[in-house]
Amino acid sequence: MKYTLLTLGCKVNRAEINTLESDLIGEGHEIVPLSESPDVCIVNTCTVTSKSDYQSRQLIRRALRTGARVVATGCYSELHAEDIREGISPDINIIPNSNKLHNIRHIYDISKSNTLFSSGARNRAFIKIQDGCNFRCSYCAIPSARGRSRSVIYKDIIDEINRASDSGLNEVVLTGIHIGLYGIDLKENYTLKGLIADILGNTSIPRIRLSSLEINEIDEELLGIIDNKRICPHLHLPLQSGKDDTLRRMGRHYKAIEFKEKMNIIRGRFPDISIGTDIIAGFPGETDEEFSETLNFVRSLDLSYMHVFPYSKRAGTRAAELPDHVDQSIKDLRAAELRTLSLEKSLNYRKRFIGSELDVIIENRLDDSKYSATSGNYIKINVLSDDLVPGELMHVTLTDANENENTGIPPHIHNV
Ligand code: SF4
Repeated sequence: MKYTLLTLGCKVNRAEINTLESDLIGEGHEIVPLSESPDVCIVNTCTVTSKSDYQSRQLIRRALRTGARVVATGCYSELHAEDIREGISPDINIIPNSNKLHNIRHIYDISKSNTLFSSGARNRAFIKIQDGCNFRCSYCAIPSARGRSRSVIYKDIIDEINRASDSGLNEVVLTGIHIGLYGIDLKENYTLKGLIADILGNTSIPRIRLSSLEINEIDEELLGIIDNKRICPHLHLPLQSGKDDTLRRMGRHYKAIEFKEKMNIIRGRFPDISIGTDIIAGFPGETDEEFSETLNFVRSLDLSYMHVFPYSKRAGTRAAELPDHVDQSIKDLRAAELRTLSLEKSLNYRKRFIGSELDVIIENRLDDSKYSATSGNYIKINVLSDDLVPGELMHVTLTDANENENTGIPPHIHNV
């Protein structure tokens, strides 16, 4: 049959859809775009912001218009099944988040593939190691949509990573809703640190990238384990706010100064590491004074980039019930100020590497003489060449970094 697979949101959603893609291709099914009249369309939805809710509904409607059988799964359909059935169509097959792949395989009689297949250019594999979250940050609906933390068993993770490297991929991204909770539900005392050490010991994949980690989950032992050339020098550590009162209302588990102290420890050990963060602008109750304290605090951090989100009210969360919600126009203004600061920090960070050799994975050909690529320390580089191989791991010299792009040239090509 012809399947269309659509996904929104986080790397976990992408990892799930990539796995399903392998299963379908392994069974001889065809993966087609919506424009090629699919028989079945699977939409993996997202509810992290009101914008992703809107995009989820739009994708489901577009899928319906093709006449295909439509499956909706993921966080938006998990929390808004009735809205979909009553507001869009009662014919949508809504599949819960938990065990979604198992249920989809069962309903559509698809067996799990033991080989990694891909219908499109795939330059890295997102490996889902964990699902759900035991935390309850006041603004976040994900624990309601994904449930408590559940770990993928270690053997399945190692097998999937080896499948990725056997299929020629040079990078895996360990992803989950809250990977720092990996192992918390497993009988044996096994943690993310143990898993990373075992991945290093039982696979040959050249690059392993970690997705988001909470600042409290970074300790000397973890830093010791990631002090390995196969672990990408890149950490994404959500801060959300630089003001303790705001952090308290968010239900976050650290003070701003603790975040800064831990960041300095990391930077002290890895001076060139890329450290990114998430910041929410305009959280309920955030006064002008609170915001300028956040701005000054973030300015004082040696960050490499920031993802900035204007606060988005999520039904069913504690923050939605808080007083003093901030006007959208003020949220947007604050987000714009933070994004300007992010660009400044990102440029300063990238300029540090001009003249240096960086290891990159070649991604897509942009034109006759340019390829996109991503370095281990998460710099997007346009590599000047007319003859490179997507997916290849190689060294390039960074020759320029500016507001718009980073440019690199390949001194030589080395095989892993
Ligand atoms: S740690 Fe907080 S923000 Fe992250 S998924 Fe859990 S509840 Fe949401």
